[in-house]
Amino acid sequence: MIVMKFGGTSVGSAGSIRSVIDVIRQAANSGKNPFVVVSAVSGVTDMLLAAARSALSKGSSVNGLVGGIERRHADIILGLGIAPDILLEDLAELEKMLYGIWLVREITARTTDYVASFGERMSSRIVAAYAKKCGLNAKEFNAYDLGMITDSNFGNAEILPSTYEAIAAAVEKIPSGTIPIVTGFVGKTKEGEITTLGRGGSDYTASIFGAALGAEEIQIWTDADGVMTADPKLVPGASTVPVVSFEEASELAYFGAKILHPKTILPAMNKNIPVRVLNTFNPSGSGTVILKSGRITNERPITAIACKKNIYVINISSLRMLLAYGFLSRVFRIFEDFEVPVDIITTSEVNVSVTVEKKFDISKLVDKLKEFAAVTVLSDRASISVIGNGIRSTPGIVGRLFSTLGKSGINVEMTSQSYADVNESIVVREDR
Ligand code: ASP
Ligand code: MG
Repeated sequence: MIVMKFGGTSVGSAGSIRSVIDVIRQAANSGKNPFVVVSAVSGVTDMLLAAARSALSKGSSVNGLVGGIERRHADIILGLGIAPDILLEDLAELEKMLYGIWLVREITARTTDYVASFGERMSSRIVAAYAKKCGLNAKEFNAYDLGMITDSNFGNAEILPSTYEAIAAAVEKIPSGTIPIVTGFVGKTKEGEITTLGRGGSDYTASIFGAALGAEEIQIWTDADGVMTADPKLVPGASTVPVVSFEEASELAYFGAKILHPKTILPAMNKNIPVRVLNTFNPSGSGTVILKSGRITNERPITAIACKKNIYVINISSLRMLLAYGFLSRVFRIFEDFEVPVDIITTSEVNVSVTVEKKFDISKLVDKLKEFAAVTVLSDRASISVIGNGIRSTPGIVGRLFSTLGKSGINVEMTSQSYADVNESIVVREDR
């Protein structure tokens, strides 16, 4: 069995859904037993979240809020020639939900997830309907009806330890020969409330199902030719990397390569299942395969470079802390209390600098730090991460990196590389 996940652009038009079905058919014909996970049609999750927000602020009625969402799907349904009414119930339920928000003038994380879930619920219905029209034995499923149980951290829910077993038990009941078309991104709490796994979370869904079902391979079908040496928009000469280790892939995902949701790697890695990143729009390309590092022999010490804009650099210093212990623990306890994750850390005796993504609100955290330290926040910086299994073992790599930057007159403001690292990250001014 293989898990095949198709992203938003892959299901974003009638034409691309036709390519998706070709890809699934080929897998089925070669005896691979595809288990399919889909994202929402591209743009739809944003539209749903926007609709929920405007239901809250809209004056006299909620009429018309689902219009754009309905049209986005109707174009695809029309293009595929499938039954025009397959989304009627979903759209009616969505409208009711928005009406509820409008009526009570309140939107919670829980209702937001409920609204957001319609994207994948509708796309899975469309893909399954078209697959059936093409003669495949496909059937749509909500992931939560196949054991995807999560905690109640709405908006960024996490699976429970029992989820893997629940999935295996539920999928066992599907008649063999069926090709399941399953919603990415969504789950349900034990109490039956809909949750989402965080933006871009369909990759994670695919990896969880893959691990639970002991898949041979987890395929992430997207709109790029796999993991690239750098962002091709920034570096026109960037090329596809054929093989990447799990460690490299998670560093890349975390430090700015937009190809995979950062959480995707873990379930696959725990079960040692290869993850292959492929292009729906160039299906004959070989893409990138992500494997355990022991199985890789890359000649190049550096695999890829990623970059993260929209970060804060927070500098924390306290002379009082000279030779005192407990400074770091006090600093990081505050990040823990405010639930703000730190990306890069550098330290000296009296100074700690960290980077944090701008999506986190750090104002209260900074106030708290100021109670015992001098704090400055820089908001015009970016991090660049050079990633490769060879970094730790190849002498001179870091020297070359710094001399190259030096020759270009680019000042390196922070740098971090730990002993066992496959990642050398630096911070520079974003405009450089
Ligand atoms: N539809 C969700 C999003 O846009 C999940 C995903 O596409 O992976 O974030
Ligand atoms: Mg995605």
